[in-house]
Amino acid sequence: MAAPRAGLGAGAGAAAGVPGRQGSSGVEVVFPSEPAPPAPLCPHGPTLLFVKVNQGKEETRRFYACSACRDRKDCNFFQWEDEKLSGARLAAREAHNRKCQPPLSRTQCAERYLKFIELPLSQRKFCQRCQQLLLPDDWEKHHEHRVVGDISITQLRRPSQLLYPLENKKTNAQYLFADRSCQFLVDLLPTLGFTRVLCVGTPRLHELIRLKASDDKKSNIKSLLLDIDFRYSQFYMEDSFCHYNMFNHHFFDGKAALEVCRTFLQEDKGEGVIMVTDPPFGGLVEPLAVTFKKLIAMWKEGQSEGSSHKELPIFWIFPYFFESRIRQFFPSFCMLDYQRFHRTFICVDEAMKYGCMLEVDYDNHALYKHGKTGRKQSPVRIFTNIPPNKIILPSEEGYRFCPLCQRYISLENQHCEHCNSCTSKDGRKWNHCFFCKKCVKPSWIHCSICGHCALPDHSCGGPKDGCFICGELDHKRSTCPKITTSKKVNRSV
Ligand code: SAH
Ligand code: ZN
Ligand code: ZN
Ligand code: ZN
Ligand code: ZN
Repeated sequence: MAAPRAGLGAGAGAAAGVPGRQGSSGVEVVFPSEPAPPAPLCPHGPTLLFVKVNQGKEETRRFYACSACRDRKDCNFFQWEDEKLSGARLAAREAHNRKCQPPLSRTQCAERYLKFIELPLSQRKFCQRCQQLLLPDDWEKHHEHRVVGDISITQLRRPSQLLYPLENKKTNAQYLFADRSCQFLVDLLPTLGFTRVLCVGTPRLHELIRLKASDDKKSNIKSLLLDIDFRYSQFYMEDSFCHYNMFNHHFFDGKAALEVCRTFLQEDKGEGVIMVTDPPFGGLVEPLAVTFKKLIAMWKEGQSEGSSHKELPIFWIFPYFFESRIRQFFPSFCMLDYQRFHRTFICVDEAMKYGCMLEVDYDNHALYKHGKTGRKQSPVRIFTNIPPNKIILPSEEGYRFCPLCQRYISLENQHCEHCNSCTSKDGRKWNHCFFCKKCVKPSWIHCSICGHCALPDHSCGGPKDGCFICGELDHKRSTCPKITTSKKVNRSV
């Protein structure tokens, strides 16, 4: 199934890679009020400040950990907030950070790419083990590896098919969209009038936009990819890919890369650009929101006086259960009902056997089509600040317009006259509960002991599995819409 990348509950706790989490405790990010001392650096740029939460209470001692890695194995940076490091340890850390940087600079990668495309087809090789395009000088080093030859220009234009998705590593699990799902966006963006797309963590969208632009001369959409997956540097020049960490707005190649991004956002006084992002679902909504606000600010600097009230159009692709959390940071965002973001399903065994990637769209995959549950809906939705009535969802897939809500909704979603909105979030018809005064999932019933709706077999009396703050069962403390950042910061010592 289209499984979320990390369980909601495992959110930030796992992100910091801190051992010893028990029960309902976890770890949360803290943004200290300015002026704060600069955060120490790990190989992934400035670290984030975390606080451990035990049974709903914050512990007093805070610590810095990697912003990007959900697994200690990937980055084991750890430092107590009040810890003083010796000069020797600081030097060792700096050396380690340098050692972890990619072996080639961004410019060197671009030069290699230009050499590679000049080679005759028979000399264009790709090492699957090292995930690297090889120039003739490299062949010797890789001769015992699995190397595929005859890399065509078409293959070079689809790096996301050539590279293995980084799935087993929690750190940057890559959930590539099936081409069909991605095509929906590729077709939608020009109809909304966009000419530039800032792709933050959407390598496949980036690639399909560029393919369309090169095949179809009428479409002149430009795209810039920001992603932490450095392997993409081999396939793009400096003006179409930046090695970037979206959890701390860190450009690995420094000022030059930042300027590429700034120029892209500010071109045409900022007209015609949209940001599309599909981050890992680690539960770290807050650092993402902070980053996106920085990108918005960068775009705003380039605005002409008269249009300073405008917002940077954004598509943020994320699971529906983060709706309240996202709206807490971006109140103008609404969640679209489009539910057909299907991942490609990659048969790794077969890929090993045949030496190529076999991608299967969920829709076409027999196992999923005739699977036990019959529900193959993805939890992934689009959150956007574009007025939803402008985003026409395909009627051939059952979507229709609700004039009361002024948005397109899925087939079984029904307008609830009590809530005055089309309330379903997951494609099933939800039922209104008069005790709870809201619509709830069809599988829930009202529990008079708990005083709210829940699954029929829930254990009564306690927010054990729910949220510490409001007691609701559909989210944890870290995603509670009632928690505010300022409170969180003030409460901590
Ligand atoms: N559905 C998208 C892919 C989303 S998977 C598509 O088909 O294009 C999430 C993407 O975010 C991956 O490309 C991954 O490399 C990237 N990513 C993960 N962590 C990141 C980080 N800290 N900073 C920037 N990009 C990151
Ligand atoms: Zn790190
Ligand atoms: Zn409606
Ligand atoms: Zn209702
Ligand atoms: Zn109820």
